[in-house]
Amino acid sequence: LEWCVSVPKVELHAHLNGSVRNSTLFELARVLGDKGVIVFSDVENVIMKDDRTLHEVFKLFDLIHILTTDHSTVTRITKEVIEDFAAENVVYLELRTTPKRNDSIGMSKRSYMDAVMEGLRAVSSVDVDYSPTGLKTNTFNGSTRKKMYVRFLLSIDRRESTEAAMETVKLALEMRDLGVVGIDLSGNPIVGNWSTFLPALKFAKEQGLYITLHCGEVPNQEEIKAMIDFLPHRIGHACCFDEENWRKLKSAKIPVEICLTSNIRTETISSIDIHHFVDLYKAKHPLVLCTDDSGVFSTSLSREYNLASSSFGLGKTEMFQLAEIAINFIFADDGVKTDLRATFEEAVKKLN
Ligand code: 5GP
Repeated sequence: LEWCVSVPKVELHAHLNGSVRNSTLFELARVLGDKGVIVFSDVENVIMKDDRTLHEVFKLFDLIHILTTDHSTVTRITKEVIEDFAAENVVYLELRTTPKRNDSIGMSKRSYMDAVMEGLRAVSSVDVDYSPTGLKTNTFNGSTRKKMYVRFLLSIDRRESTEAAMETVKLALEMRDLGVVGIDLSGNPIVGNWSTFLPALKFAKEQGLYITLHCGEVPNQEEIKAMIDFLPHRIGHACCFDEENWRKLKSAKIPVEICLTSNIRTETISSIDIHHFVDLYKAKHPLVLCTDDSGVFSTSLSREYNLASSSFGLGKTEMFQLAEIAINFIFADDGVKTDLRATFEEAVKKLN
């Protein structure tokens, strides 16, 4: 595991509210428990549970959102999550989150994202480069600290309407200079219809935003087909494809974000030995290992690499290549890619 920690890594599929430390969730739950808003022991039982089905995971997210959705907490968890990834030697992070509106506390999707940006600017353990123009960093004078790139994806929740999805896309366009590079479609896969989100996703693509879709978490072949035909820039999971859609995915060469622990914990894949990672890896299909929800699934990106190594028999050379090749699938410009390749070149000298 130590070696996996020391390798520089690229994280492309991490949900903000799924990556919150348990200790932070407990602290927040205690405060709300004392106020009588929630019952602390109920929350404790839910948070401590290890194995949950996909269905239960979404109930847990509703609970997490009660704990985290106010401006100052959003700022706090953003800072902590970025610092946790930095401590793992993640050199490029695409963090995704669903902008939330909550009129009762004066929160708009924009003010939610402003709170996220404030959290990013508060990061103090590393220098963060978050702007595509390269002008915005939180570098302190003369610092020689580690540098990390952070970009944001705004998620559309499958419970949302076409209008709400469109509002998120417009917000992403507004916030491009602040490091928002794309749109994600996520949320409970048995809720909502592809046709509801398509207009907003089409508009986003036309406007030059990158698109990644949660695709094939349940065996809805019609939706999977429509999603592949849309040609997103990446997809997440790809667990329940039939043969025809699998062929389509491979010939379209759409990069796949693989979240091993998440798939096993939610029982989307019954056992690691039959995980589709192996097929994609052998076929040299573009793929990237990711955490999904490091808090909810008690994992880390290093653990995901370690798990891939022990489960699929990959050696250090293959693991390093797997980490490095992810640079090709990031939603950032060539300058960032060149810089990241140099980081990996430096690292390979030190690791050998
Ligand atoms: P947030 O967007 O609130 O920062 O992060 C939590 C949200 O991400 C959840 O409410 C859910 O919409 C989405 N999410 C997190 N993990 C998963 C997953 O494994 N599958 C899907 N489809 N959505 C997820």
